[in-house]
Amino acid sequence: MTTQTATLGYPRIGKNREVKKALEAFWSGKITSESLLETVKEVEEANWKTQLDTGIDKIGVGDTTLYDHILDWTFRFGLIPERFQQFSGLERYFAMARGKEGIPALEMTKWFDTNYHYLVPEIPDNFLIADWSDFIERVTRAQKILGERAIPIVFGLCTLFRLSKLEVNIEQAISQLIPLYTNLLTELKSLGIKQVQIHEPALVLSDANNWKEHYQTVYKSLAEVGLSLDLVTYFDDLGETYNWVMELPVNGISLDLTRGRNFELIKNYGFPEDKRLGVGIVDARNIWQIRPEEVISKLKVIKDIVKNQQFTIQPSASLQFVPYDATRETNLPEALRNVLSFAEQKLQEIVLLAKTISDVDTTQEIQLIASKQQEFYNFSPTNLEVQTKLKNLKTDEFERALPYSERITQQLPLPPFPTTTIGSFPQTSEVRQLRVKFKRGEISLAEYQTAIDAQIAECIKMQEEAGVDVLVHGEFERTDMVEFFGQQLSGYAFTEHGWVQSYGSRYVRPPFIYGDINRTQSMTVREFEYAQSLTTKPVKGMLTGPVTMINWSYTRTDISRQEQAYQIALALRDEVADLEAAGAKIIQIDEPALREGLPLKEQRWNDYLSWAVDSFKLSAGIAKPETQIHTHMCYSEFGDIITHIERLDADVLSIENSRSNNETLYELTDGGYSKQVGNGVYDVHSPAVPTTEQMLSQLRTGIANLPVEQIWVNPDCGLKTRRWEEVIPSIKNMVDAAKVLREEASVSKEN
Ligand code: GLN
Ligand code: ZN
Repeated sequence: MTTQTATLGYPRIGKNREVKKALEAFWSGKITSESLLETVKEVEEANWKTQLDTGIDKIGVGDTTLYDHILDWTFRFGLIPERFQQFSGLERYFAMARGKEGIPALEMTKWFDTNYHYLVPEIPDNFLIADWSDFIERVTRAQKILGERAIPIVFGLCTLFRLSKLEVNIEQAISQLIPLYTNLLTELKSLGIKQVQIHEPALVLSDANNWKEHYQTVYKSLAEVGLSLDLVTYFDDLGETYNWVMELPVNGISLDLTRGRNFELIKNYGFPEDKRLGVGIVDARNIWQIRPEEVISKLKVIKDIVKNQQFTIQPSASLQFVPYDATRETNLPEALRNVLSFAEQKLQEIVLLAKTISDVDTTQEIQLIASKQQEFYNFSPTNLEVQTKLKNLKTDEFERALPYSERITQQLPLPPFPTTTIGSFPQTSEVRQLRVKFKRGEISLAEYQTAIDAQIAECIKMQEEAGVDVLVHGEFERTDMVEFFGQQLSGYAFTEHGWVQSYGSRYVRPPFIYGDINRTQSMTVREFEYAQSLTTKPVKGMLTGPVTMINWSYTRTDISRQEQAYQIALALRDEVADLEAAGAKIIQIDEPALREGLPLKEQRWNDYLSWAVDSFKLSAGIAKPETQIHTHMCYSEFGDIITHIERLDADVLSIENSRSNNETLYELTDGGYSKQVGNGVYDVHSPAVPTTEQMLSQLRTGIANLPVEQIWVNPDCGLKTRRWEEVIPSIKNMVDAAKVLREEASVSKEN
């Protein structure tokens, strides 16, 4: 018999973003809820058919969602915080997802180390009545289409709690939820379901060992239902939990073999004879085709270890993290397109691997892959100059010529409490139209640049009128901070249909790196020069840092992420030099994604941070002592990585702060941060115009522990999603707040 294949979830946004379109139409009252649900159903069934037609044996079903699959389970189990209890049905669901006037939504945060965001469950002390009828409806529909291949995906209890904000005692909450889970499983069993996936990705987190007893209690109860349970983990290895997880009373365990050390763990400790192993060997988080030799040799080792051949070939996680179909990317060179693997291609790879490991003759198919990979290898841009530069990097290239304390005296003098912004200004529909027209060839480059310059001029004028000290050009020429640079660097590629869900109805098309990165010409100098020509105040050069470029792109698998980050850093380094030559006295290198790139396991943090910080330093190290280097990070907590933040050696660090009551700042000051800090004085995510008083009080409490010389005044992130009507008064008020502080400081000096 051929080895079985399985999936753990599939992209659920629709091949042409049908779900997004339907959602947005529903929210704006253009379509009914029935029509929205119909669209979701169509997308879901098309997904099932693709998997069925490709020959997947165990198709995960039930992960399709209107917004977020974690929210779905919170909702189904009746874990409804009080503020949402006044609503019902879809109104309640979307209130939890998006909030309502005066009622904040559930908090949204990153899903493990992916770029997907989920809604953080809040476990109230009174559970409302559970209702999973939508799930049951889905499963019965799947049974009709897929028969026994339909494997319901249930979200694991322990992970649900591990990711929640708990208002109640955990033991108590678990004991309340266990009967709900057993009822659900019993109902599934009564439908004729034999096997269920239970997703417990929290088992790969560093603290999973502390949850051992909870897992044991929960799975002892769930096992009593008598269904075949597949405990599914992904994103990293089981680490120290491996041995006790193997003993849990479940029938299968799915492991991610593309990340972490699971392969070594299996080799070292073996795999229990009475269980089925889900071999997550096809990377669900990258867009590259498998390298058959590599994968097959791993599979052979596993085949020898797992007794009775009890294993299935599957993706490492849900395929929601990759787009649908690489063959649609007809704008990409064929040699490149041929080695891409999106969800549909990954299904084919899984089937191919299953055949191969079952000794079906697949030589021809494997050879075809090999020849495509050879073609790609010949095609992909290798840049010997960049490679040589990397090999010969010297440690002093990572360092500024002088230490902070010495270079600071040479940098541009500014008033105390200098004011600035984070970079972007409103991206109005006019600006977006402009870019679209240019892309479509409806206006020439010269026309486009003239129109962009008009925006820059207005932006500079506004900042001058408001009295800002360090100006920015406004980033009107940029769609997205990664895309803008990626498009100008060779080695970067972009897709046309490669959408993946970021959260709810927000989808992104991550670019990918496919060859050595090279900068062929300056990328930001033109706009900088124009902006600087309009004012005597300093204009900041604005760049996206190497770590953020890497973390928000799919990366190559043939060289390390570190090497790719260094290549980007080299390109940025040249850009820093060009900006300096063009007269920039201040350059900001944004790294909003630095923290989110942290590996899931704390023992690997140092490794990551060491190259991440070094790549930032490589890009900034070339700056002359008199050039002030800024960096910006949003949503960051620094407490645990403060030494690394210090090691960035940026002269000024601006941070998101306004929503966390100065916590981020206190983490820095408690950690003895010695350089300048721009303490975000207002939340750019809210349309409200902050008053001078509000910002003053934020500043006063925030900076109590910091010497005056260390303080900057700025909003907490870029202003691109705001409207000019909000931005203009906000910036004026912000400058006024700085002026008040300045006066107070000069009075206290005189006394
Ligand atoms: N300079 C960027 C902007 O202002 C920074 C964006 C970010 O922090 N995510 O838009
Ligand atoms: Zn930001």
